[in-house]
Amino acid sequence: MTSLVSSADAPFRRNDQGELTCDGVRLADIARDHGTPTYVYSAAAVDVAFDSVDSAYAGAPHLVCFALKACSNLALAARLARRGAGVDIVSGGELFRALKAGFPSERIVFAGVGKTRQEIGEALDANILLFTVESIQEVEAISALARERGKTARVAFRVNPDVDPKTHPYVSTGLKKNKFGIGRETVLDAYRFALSLPNLDPTGIHCHIGSQLVHLDPVRDAVDRIADLVAELKGIGVPIRYIDIGGGIAIRYRDETPDGPTAIASHVIGRAREFGATILMEPGRFLVGNAGILLTEVVYTKENGSKKFVVVDAAMNDLIRPSLYDAYHEIVTVSPPSGEENLVDIVGPVCESGDFLAHDRSFPPVASGDLLAVLSAGAYGFVMSSNYNARPRAAEVVVAGGTARVTRQRESYEDLIRGEVV
Ligand SMILES: *Cc1c(COP(=O)(O)O)cnc(C)c1O
Repeated sequence: MTSLVSSADAPFRRNDQGELTCDGVRLADIARDHGTPTYVYSAAAVDVAFDSVDSAYAGAPHLVCFALKACSNLALAARLARRGAGVDIVSGGELFRALKAGFPSERIVFAGVGKTRQEIGEALDANILLFTVESIQEVEAISALARERGKTARVAFRVNPDVDPKTHPYVSTGLKKNKFGIGRETVLDAYRFALSLPNLDPTGIHCHIGSQLVHLDPVRDAVDRIADLVAELKGIGVPIRYIDIGGGIAIRYRDETPDGPTAIASHVIGRAREFGATILMEPGRFLVGNAGILLTEVVYTKENGSKKFVVVDAAMNDLIRPSLYDAYHEIVTVSPPSGEENLVDIVGPVCESGDFLAHDRSFPPVASGDLLAVLSAGAYGFVMSSNYNARPRAAEVVVAGGTARVTRQRESYEDLIRGEVV
C-alpha cells in the first residue's frame, strides 16, 4: 500500500530529513508553536482541487458551489470565494458564515429537508441564487415568505432519482428509502404546483445522490434521469435554466482510485447544452478532504495482554469519522518512521470504547511526546467536532505561501461554559 504522503504532488510530504511538512512548513514547528490537537490545511491543495473541478466544466456555463458543511473554516471559504467559487449551504448559520467569508449572494444555493421559516426568510433577504427544495410544504413556505417580502424566489426541486450510489449507507441519499428529495413520479405535479404559487420561479432541477462516490456512473445516471425530465417540464411551461448535479466526488483515503471531476464532465455538459442550462455542482469532500490533517501528540503507550495501544491527545470529539462510519484514515509519524512495525490501536482519551482513530494498524514504535498526523481529515473533520468530555475544540491552522497562520484559535475552558448559568 502506498502512503498518501509518498506521492510527489501531495501537500503533506517528507522533506530531505524525512520530517513531515505541509507545503514545506514542518508540522513539528506547527505543533511547537500552536500545540495539539490541531487541524492543519494546505491552502494550495484547496486551490488545486477547486481548479480541477472548475476546469473540467470550463467548456460550459457553470458554477462550482463549495459544500460548506464539509469544512466551514472561514479563511479557506474566503479563499474559495475569491477564486470564483459559489457555496452550497444547509442552514442559517452557514448562510451567515458564507456571507462573512465573502461569497456574493448570487453564488449561494441553499439545500436541506428542514429549512425553517426563519432560515428561508434570511436567505430571501440575502437574495441568494437558488433554493433546492425537498417538499411541497417547503415550496409553499418559500412562496409565502417571498410574497411577504415582495421578492421572487428561484427554486429547484431536489429529485430523488432512485439510483444506488454504492457508498456507505449513512452517506447514501438518493434512494427512495432516504429522507431526501421528492420522488420522480411526483416531479411534474410538484413543478405544476410551484407554477401556481405566487412569487416563485421554478427555474432549476437538482439531485445529490450521496457522498464519497468512488465511481461517478451513478451520478451520470442520475443526471440522465433528471435531464430527461427537463423536456417534460418544458412541455408544461417550466423552462429549466439551472441543472444542479450535487456533490459526492470521492477522495483517496486508503487505496481507492476514485473517478476524478473530469470523469462525467463532458457527458453532463452535453446534457445541459440540450436545454441551455447553467450547470451547478456542490463538491465538498473533494475540495478539502486531502488538503487537511489532524496533528496530534502521543500521550502514553500501553499494552493490555497482547493488545498494544497508542493513546493520543485527539479523540472522537475532534474527528468522529472512524467512530461514526468506521472510516479509515491513514496515520503517519511526523518524524521519520523507524523500527519494526507492530499492530496497534490508536485511541483518544474520551471515555468511550468507540473512541478510536485506528484499529489494528501496523505502526512503527512511538513514545510519549511523538507527533502523529491523521491524514485526509480536511472534510467532515473539524466541522463535526464537539465538546464531549468537556474537551475544548482544536485549533485550525492554514498554511499558505510558506507560512502557517492560526485561523481559528483553540477553545479555552472559558469558551466551554460560554452562555451557561449556574
Ligand atoms: C453534503 C452535500 C454535498 C457535498 O457532498 P460531498 O460528498 O462532500 O461532495 C453536496 N450537496 C448536498 C445537497 C449535500 O447534502
